[in-house]
Amino acid sequence: MRIDLHTHSTVSDGTESPAVLIKAARDAALDVIALTDHDSTAGWADAAEAARKHGVALIPGMEVSCRTDTGISVHVLSYLHDPSHPGLVAQIQRSRDARLSRAERMVERLGADYPITWADVQEHIAEGATVGRPHIADSLVTLGIVANRSEAFTHILTAASPYWVGHYAPHPAQAVELIRAAGGVAVFAHPVASARGRIVGDDVIGQMIDAGLQGLEVDHRDNPEPGRQELRRIAARHGLLMTGSSDYHGEGKPNRLGENLTDPSVLDQIEALASGTLSVR
Ligand code: AMP
Ligand code: ZN
Ligand code: FE
Ligand code: FE
Repeated sequence: MRIDLHTHSTVSDGTESPAVLIKAARDAALDVIALTDHDSTAGWADAAEAARKHGVALIPGMEVSCRTDTGISVHVLSYLHDPSHPGLVAQIQRSRDARLSRAERMVERLGADYPITWADVQEHIAEGATVGRPHIADSLVTLGIVANRSEAFTHILTAASPYWVGHYAPHPAQAVELIRAAGGVAVFAHPVASARGRIVGDDVIGQMIDAGLQGLEVDHRDNPEPGRQELRRIAARHGLLMTGSSDYHGEGKPNRLGENLTDPSVLDQIEALASGTLSVR
């Protein structure tokens, strides 16, 4: 069984539609894929239809944007939650709105040094998609300013850049509580991905565990090995599940489907713990 529990489509900042993504999952010989777009479940229906057509099992999911009190960006994966839970829906809507105005402000700042306009960026955002820096990156590529998304993220779009603007997002412990309230399973995404920015310490992980965190995404290309060992220790100490995933974004990132996998017994536990929605098989 090949199980990949973290992927993105054009519903957020991936480059393939949910249907194309599912077909790519079949071509990558995956048996199970989770669709986890940022702050949105808008791709679930199309993904489910494609999953049935291509004989791939689908775990409907989402990656919830969060921010700690000290401004550290944290992502929490939610699996099999109720997509209409009012509290969770209100929270992700707030983040999506904040992401949009934040992106507009970043483009305004970029406009001082580069010939980029909001209209350029909009060309790269699918209707209703959750907006992120990758969409700005795509526009920088089209304008010939950088060669690809990765290059845009080395300087121009990092948190250390003068063009950087932050955005509202809930505290990770609050996100975990909402995911649980919606019947979902909450897994801390790439917890030690230090190359992306500051990572949280034991204090925040403790708050997330107290709020009901159920798993840690250990096998992810952005987690360095020493950090993974620490994550395995934390998981053992607190009885947390351990997942492995690609965080595939289509052509937007080097991450390939199935490059990290989750053990079938872990997926069984995720499905047993969830009560918000059913997997598609
Ligand atoms: P944002 O949501 O605006 O904070 O942007 C973060 C998103 O950008 C994440 O989903 C990452 O997958 C993506 N990202 C981060 N670093 C890179 C990179 N080097 N190349 C391509 N995408 C990246
Ligand atoms: Zn992303
Ligand atoms: Fe993430
Ligand atoms: Fe992701």
